[in-house]
Amino acid sequence: MKLYDVAIIGAGITGTSIARELSRYRLNIALLEKEEEPAFGVSKSNSGIIHPGTQNPVNSLKGKLCVQGNFLIRKISKELGLDFKEVGELIVSFNEEETKELLRLKEEAEILGVPGLEIVDKAWLKQHEPNLNSEAVRGLYAPTAGIISPYRMVYDLAENAVRNGVEIHAQTKVINITRADKYFEINTSAGMFKTRYLINAAGLFADDISGMLGIDDFKIKPRKGEEFILDKKKENLARHLIFPLPSKISKGVLIIKTADGNPMIGPTAEEVEDKDDLATSDNGLGKVLMSARRLIPAIDDKDIIAYFAGLRPAAGDDFIIRHEVKAPGLINVAGIQSPGLTASPAIALLVKDILQNNGLGLKKKLLFRAHQGKTIHLFAIPFSKTKGLIKKDRAYGDIVCRCEMVSAREIRDAIKHGARTMDGIKFRTRAQAGRCHGSFCTTRIMKILSEETKIPLTSITKRGKGSEILKGGGLIDG
Ligand SMILES: Cc1cc2nc3c(=O)[nH]c(=O)nc-3n(C[C@H](O)[C@H](O)[C@H](O)COP(=O)(O)OP(=O)(O)OC[C@H]3O[C@@H](n4cnc5c(N)ncnc54)[C@H](O)[C@@H]3O)c2cc1C
Repeated sequence: MKLYDVAIIGAGITGTSIARELSRYRLNIALLEKEEEPAFGVSKSNSGIIHPGTQNPVNSLKGKLCVQGNFLIRKISKELGLDFKEVGELIVSFNEEETKELLRLKEEAEILGVPGLEIVDKAWLKQHEPNLNSEAVRGLYAPTAGIISPYRMVYDLAENAVRNGVEIHAQTKVINITRADKYFEINTSAGMFKTRYLINAAGLFADDISGMLGIDDFKIKPRKGEEFILDKKKENLARHLIFPLPSKISKGVLIIKTADGNPMIGPTAEEVEDKDDLATSDNGLGKVLMSARRLIPAIDDKDIIAYFAGLRPAAGDDFIIRHEVKAPGLINVAGIQSPGLTASPAIALLVKDILQNNGLGLKKKLLFRAHQGKTIHLFAIPFSKTKGLIKKDRAYGDIVCRCEMVSAREIRDAIKHGARTMDGIKFRTRAQAGRCHGSFCTTRIMKILSEETKIPLTSITKRGKGSEILKGGGLIDG
């Protein structure tokens, strides 16, 4: 059996960031993921904000890593062609009491090293954020806040890690782990793996994985966030990310700009027991609408085209990132709640240092392929340039998803880059994510997926085994 230097459990943003960082070194690395594709855990259902670091306690690890991650993501985005956009954020106050709180947040954020913060007045708000509630009196402006597509970030990190030698084993659920002499034996649904160092980046299930090695001093308590996506025609609803003052457990309900153009409102924050509870509710919608309209009164619920819930994998107030002396070689990377997406590049660097401090020799590879071509999305390029693309390849003119303007060529590209499920294609391209929810394009996408992968139509799934779409013969006409 092959002995890996490092095995990472979990191909979310944390696991793939770590995998890519470690792929710079001469190491045998396996990334184990229970789902059919990466990014099917918490990393698929979040707000996609690259936070500047404004709403974190001064001495927190998450605060420090958030500021560092916000800085690092710029270089990674250039290298991997990610769609990071620095749009800036406003936290707004509605009275003197709240303005005092804004000043406190500014001071704390400055201690953490958040750059460029400014308190702006009513006139500034009116000029720069015309749809904002006119009762807002001040804003804390953080120019370094940005947005990114969270799943496309995971896919690009994963692809680049593989390009640099990492093995990704999907549909590989870790069932049990034992520590032998100088290595771990990992029993999975796809067989045994042996590794010298083990990184637990299993998101909501990080406590279960840690418990397999007898370390059970933390519990993941899921905190649900319901989010509501608005029609793309509302793209200019807000010019910045807009926040209210944060509460003790969350950053509040926000007006979110997204990398795909559709604005979003949410998330709620509610502790739940069930790690699979991804239900949205009327109650959640009511709370989100009420809070979002306090920021932008013109929000119309008729513009909501889709919704989802995500579970923040909280384990207390802060991230837990540490080497476990009781199980030498195990690094727990747990409790990666918000701002985990932002912090991920910094988490990866910290984990690399922890590994090195605990005996893993790190020798740089002669050739690390840092760069990757930018994926083409018709929705993200000016219409004037589409003609040139169609000239190059007519499949760019063959529009499969009309709501989001996704071509057959983009769908084939997504499959070439690893998509194997309908959700995998949706997350990579946005096909099926528009107002009609795939009513027009689902069958066409299934046919393309089947042609490209030779997966029979009846075995095509929404998001892995058990979510097959067709029953019986699977005949699709047209
Ligand atoms: C509503 C909401 C909004 C958020 N907004 C933001 C934001 O705007 N900005 C920000 O910075 N952060 C945000 N976050 C936080 C961010 O989404 C998380 O911190 C991040 O996605 C956690 O990533 P992860 O890789 O640790 O976990 P996951 O993405 O869950 O990855 C863990 C992986 O481990 C796999 N796994 C679990 N158990 C096993 C097993 N036994 N065997 C094999 N594989 C296993 C899972 O399938 C999963 O793919 C938000 C979170 C939520 C819920």
